[in-house]
Amino acid sequence: MISAVCPPRVGPTRSCRIPSAQAPEGRHKLAQRASAGFTKTNTASPGGATQSLPSPAFSLLRKSANSALRLSLILAPFLSLSCTPFAHAQSRKSCPDGVTLHASAAFALQGNLLLATVSKAKSLANFSASWDGRDTPLWSEAPSKSTLHTLIGVDLEKPAGHFDWKVSWKNAAGKEQTCALSIAVRAAKFPTEHLKVENQFVEPDPEQQKRAEDDQKKMRAIYDTITPERLWEGKFQVPLKGVTTGGNFGRRRILNGQARSPHAGVDFPSPAGTPVYASQAGKVVLAEDLYYSGNTIVIDHGFGIYTLYAHLSEMAVHSGDHVAPAAEIGKVGSTGRVTGPHLHWGLTVEHARVNALSIASLNP
Ligand SMILES: [Zn+2]
Repeated sequence: MISAVCPPRVGPTRSCRIPSAQAPEGRHKLAQRASAGFTKTNTASPGGATQSLPSPAFSLLRKSANSALRLSLILAPFLSLSCTPFAHAQSRKSCPDGVTLHASAAFALQGNLLLATVSKAKSLANFSASWDGRDTPLWSEAPSKSTLHTLIGVDLEKPAGHFDWKVSWKNAAGKEQTCALSIAVRAAKFPTEHLKVENQFVEPDPEQQKRAEDDQKKMRAIYDTITPERLWEGKFQVPLKGVTTGGNFGRRRILNGQARSPHAGVDFPSPAGTPVYASQAGKVVLAEDLYYSGNTIVIDHGFGIYTLYAHLSEMAVHSGDHVAPAAEIGKVGSTGRVTGPHLHWGLTVEHARVNALSIASLNP
């Protein structure tokens, strides 16, 4: 059965589309441009590129105009029914002391990002929040102290289920209060694809293996550091000028016949030398050549939000630099595990690997 997928509300406007795995838009085109920098040997995409109707539906359409009309009548109820979650896309919970919890969607697909808020009386203080046992730092938009905000990142491999967003505070009598809003996680349909890369990136020698492990430790230490302040100012932007879509997020990859971890970033095929811009203000916490991701820059935006830019040919910043929004930080290249130039853009929110494009459609 064809059903329309109604992605969680992430902005002021919403749309309803035929299933398209996880990327916010342009999946069919992206599927064609997908494996930037890799030699694609086979596109086995059981759950991907599903924007076209399946073949039985096509054959129906071919029969006659009458049957096409019949098909649209058959599909209409399913499309409208399955869009129903849109009407209730946001989620709200009333709590003691006049506190209200709100999330930009009642459920999220793996790899998605939600914007959540706490509405409260200005006098209430000492708020903290966590989702599935992990802190979700709260911030307020000065000068208003009556609304607190947070981003909830759903890791691309988080199992489906219901997870509480728990918010605690102290009431006027000094008593600790807790209230929870349940947020459902649903499995996304990430395609699997087979790619051919240089063998050293699938079976590294001991020295290369050691280098890759050291890189991994370094990245873990970065993501374990939660800067308790907001370093960004305004909307996050896609890091290439004139580009709004990218592909490959979440794809399960078989490299030279061996399964590897899913692709946690968004790829933008682009000519070598194209300028790359910081998607928002922040502090550069890494600017170096890593084994798999080549010349890599990581920017800390505060509150556990990090963006990553990989495979660069040149890096124009150093670790410790503070960058302004849209500052040029480097150029597109093909360093690391690639065979062609492209930008790999990653987003990590409180350890969750999420689709970087999702933060560009929110206004955190
Ligand atoms: Zn990539």
